Amino acid sequence: MRHHAATDAGCRPARKLSPCKESPGRMSELVHIIIGAGQAGGHAAIAMREAGFGGRILLIGDEPHRPYERPPLSKEMLIAAEPPPPLWFHSEQRYAERAIETRLGSPVAAIDTVAQRVLLRNGARLAYDRLLLATGGRARRLAIPGGERMLLLRTLEDARALRARLRPGLRVACIGAGVIGLEIAAAATQRGCAVEVIEAGPAPMGRSLTPDFAAWIAALHRAAGVRLHFNATVQGIEPDRVICAVGLVVEADLVVAGVGMQRNTALAEAAGLAVDGGIVVDEFGRSSVANIYAAGDVAAFWHQRYGRRLRLESWRHAQNHGIATGRAMAGVMEPYDEIPWFWSDQHGANLQMAGLLDGASTDVWRGATTGRSFAAFHLDAAGRVLAATGVNAMREIRAAQAMIRAGRPVDAAALADPAGNLQKLAKG
Ligand code: FAD
Repeated sequence: MRHHAATDAGCRPARKLSPCKESPGRMSELVHIIIGAGQAGGHAAIAMREAGFGGRILLIGDEPHRPYERPPLSKEMLIAAEPPPPLWFHSEQRYAERAIETRLGSPVAAIDTVAQRVLLRNGARLAYDRLLLATGGRARRLAIPGGERMLLLRTLEDARALRARLRPGLRVACIGAGVIGLEIAAAATQRGCAVEVIEAGPAPMGRSLTPDFAAWIAALHRAAGVRLHFNATVQGIEPDRVICAVGLVVEADLVVAGVGMQRNTALAEAAGLAVDGGIVVDEFGRSSVANIYAAGDVAAFWHQRYGRRLRLESWRHAQNHGIATGRAMAGVMEPYDEIPWFWSDQHGANLQMAGLLDGASTDVWRGATTGRSFAAFHLDAAGRVLAATGVNAMREIRAAQAMIRAGRPVDAAALADPAGNLQKLAKG
C-alpha cells in the first residue's frame, strides 16, 4: 500500500515525484538523501550517480567511517596476527569524483515526511526529494541479569574491542550458534582460546541449514576443540560464568553473543512507514510513503519469484539491493529478484548456501561429506533445484543459482555424478 505525503501549510510543499520522472543524464536540483552509510547505502549512492542522477547526493551515517565490509569483522579481523585495516567499499576519491557528499558521525533523529526533511541529532534539517533508508541493524543484546557483560559484534569498534581481549588460554563463551557466533568461536579457537558455544536450539545454524549440514558444522567445531551445548537457554551472566536453564554452568572469562540482529526501523516507524519485521518495500525498493525507499538488511522487500516479502541479512543482498534501489531512485526501474545467497568461513571451511529451502523435499549430493568439497542440491517434488548448500563448493553453488533461476526439472543422476557437466545441466 502506498500513500502520498500531504502538503503542510508553511512548509516546503512535498514534491510528488514517485515514480521517478527525472531523465537520467540531466543536471538537476533534486536532492537524494541516504540515511545509513553502510554497505547498501554506499552502493546505492554510487549506483544512482552512475545511473545518471544529476542532483545532489548526501550519504549520512552515524558511524564515524565511510562504508566498510562487515564480514571480515568476525574472520580476519579476529584471526590475523596483526589487526588488518578496514576494508572500504569505495575510496574517498570515488565518492568525491561522483560528487557524493558524506556526513559521517551524524545520526538522523527523525524524518518529516510531509515537509520532506530529515532532522539530524545535531539539530540540522535537510530537505530531500527522495530518501533512502539503509539503516541496517544492530546486534541484539539479551535482556538477562548480567546481560551488559556480553560483548556484541556489528561494528569495526566492536571487532577491535573483541580482538584486543582474545589471547591464548582465555575461556570464551559464545552465546548463539548462528553464523556470527560460530565464526567468533572458530576465530577465538584459532587464537588459542578455550571456547564453548551455548545455543538455545537443538542444532547449529538451525534456521538456515538442513540437519545434515548442521551436523557437519557441529562435527567441524568439535574436531577443532570447541565444546557445543544445545537446547541450553542462557539465564544470566556472572563475572566468571554463564548460567543456563538446564542446570548448565559454563565458566568463562569472556562472553560474546551472536543472538541475531535487530533491524533499525525506529525512524521509519516514527515516520509512519509500513514496517513488518523490516521496512516494507516493493520490488523497486519503494516504501509505503511516497519518495521514501529502503534497502539492505533493514528492508522487507517483495520478491516476485517467491511471491512474498523476504528479509535477508547477507553481504550480496545488501550490495545488490542497494544498487537496484539506487538505480530505481535515478529512474532505472528493474525489479530486484536476486537469488538469496550467503557464505560463512569457519575453521578453514567455506560454507555457501543459495536459494530458499521452503518446498524442498529431496537432497541430491555431489561429493561425500567426508571429502574436502561437497554439495547438496535441494529439489522439490517436480525435480527443480530450489536451493543448494556446499562446503568448499563454489562452482556447484554458482551452477545451482543458474538452476534455481531457470526453474526447470534437472536430471538428478547427472547432478550427483562428479563427472557430470554442471554448466550444461544449468543451461538445461
Ligand atoms: P549495515 O551494514 O548495518 O549499515 C547500516 C548503517 O546505517 C550502519 O552504519 C548504521 O550505524 C547506520 N545507521 C542506522 N541508523 C542510523 C541513523 N538513524 N542515522 C544514521 N545512520 C544510521 N554476510 C554474508 O553474506 N557473509 C558473511 O560472512 C557475513 N559476515 C558478517 C559478519 C559480521 C560480523 C556482520 C555484522 C555481518 C556479516 N554479514 C555477512 C552480513 C552483512 O555484512 C550485512 O548483511 C550487511 O552489512 C548489511 O548492510 P546494510 O547496509 O544493509 O546495513
